[in-house]
Amino acid sequence: MNHFQYRDKVLFAEGVAVPEIAAAVGTPFYLYSAATLRRHFSAFDQAFAGIAHQTCFAVKSCSNIAILRLFAQLGGGADIVSGGELYRALKAGIEPGKIVYSGVGKTEAEIDQALAAEILMFNLESSQELAVVQERAAALGKRARISFRVNPDVDPQTHAYISTGLAKNKFGIPIAEALAVYRQARQLSHVEIVGVSCHIGSQLTQVSPFIDTVAKLKDFLARLAAEGIAIRYLDIGGGLGIRYAQESPPEPAAYGAAIRQALGEMACTLILEPGRVIVGNAGILVTKVLFTKTGQKKFIVVDAGMNDLARPSLYDAHHEIVPVVRGEVAAEVADLVGPICETGDFLARGRELPAAGAGDLLAVLSAGAYGFTMSSNYNSRPRVAEVLVNGDQFHQIRRRETYEDLVRGETIPDFLV
Ligand SMILES: *Cc1c(COP(=O)(O)O)cnc(C)c1O
Repeated sequence: MNHFQYRDKVLFAEGVAVPEIAAAVGTPFYLYSAATLRRHFSAFDQAFAGIAHQTCFAVKSCSNIAILRLFAQLGGGADIVSGGELYRALKAGIEPGKIVYSGVGKTEAEIDQALAAEILMFNLESSQELAVVQERAAALGKRARISFRVNPDVDPQTHAYISTGLAKNKFGIPIAEALAVYRQARQLSHVEIVGVSCHIGSQLTQVSPFIDTVAKLKDFLARLAAEGIAIRYLDIGGGLGIRYAQESPPEPAAYGAAIRQALGEMACTLILEPGRVIVGNAGILVTKVLFTKTGQKKFIVVDAGMNDLARPSLYDAHHEIVPVVRGEVAAEVADLVGPICETGDFLARGRELPAAGAGDLLAVLSAGAYGFTMSSNYNSRPRVAEVLVNGDQFHQIRRRETYEDLVRGETIPDFLV
């Protein structure tokens, strides 16, 4: 359920007509609904009500500080994967004690930054990383709280690029080898073992891979306990999918119930790292038709391209396309393409699309996750504005970039002057 609905023929975000926003901020722009964000966060978090848990929103899916602040107000923490995301999370007011740091390649500078902030824990991915964290924590006179990300070798049955929990993926430590790194960590002076973590992939549409993972994690916790290693946090990652088109992923409540059942009695706090399931259907991309072309195929050329929304090009992902103002003319099969000089620059291909002409606005749905955050300046296109609607008000939470922004940080060296 989201708050992008038609009133008569016009698409509204909560109480605001989308054309009104387009007139004020120009196109293209990302548009999020605060009511939808709150609703999705709470639905997810409530699925774990009654057991000790912390929902740590996966910042990489949608990282605007206004949206992070909204989740912070609902008690949300953050799952970060870089120093930049740590900076954002702190700036947004997320408590350091609710931040977990994932990722396979943290730098010394990033580790120092997270130690200084006193985050909840580092999810480590190798014994080399453990050695660096020990060394940096010793240098700074800190004790790093750590978990290891274990790789359970479970097939999440999703797109190959977003599968992470298979033995062949670069992520985590094979669960069969993980005991050895825990034994190693136990010897170290400046790390404190507090958790076990895992994240098997993204856009999962079934619960069974999660359940298989939980079973393997439970076995592993028992082996740790037998060695006298007590765990305070079990982090099961994110990955719950959303409906883009025909998928029917489990609702958060069903996902939560299945996980709770699989976990049974547990002495530690559960950590969850949802991204897409909270923000995916809480955001849309609004774009304007520039031209239409009819040759062998029909093309609708819009002002948003693969640099603004990479998912269709990158994963061949499907996003529903709807008119911002519904017309009378029937849909027709066309490709929806952007202005970028690449044949891979499309938002939809060979699809029944609303009949649209120059100047018409179209909405690309389910664009809230991995939309703006994956956008780039390719073709020297300024990144688009982000707008947050709250009731009958809208707020620009990121202004459109300017040409000045494009060259900020670039210099012409003396020998060229
Ligand atoms: C990307 C990522 C997530 C979030 O995944 P979603 O599919 O958006 O829920 C959570 N944890 C880790 C470690 C990730 O890399």
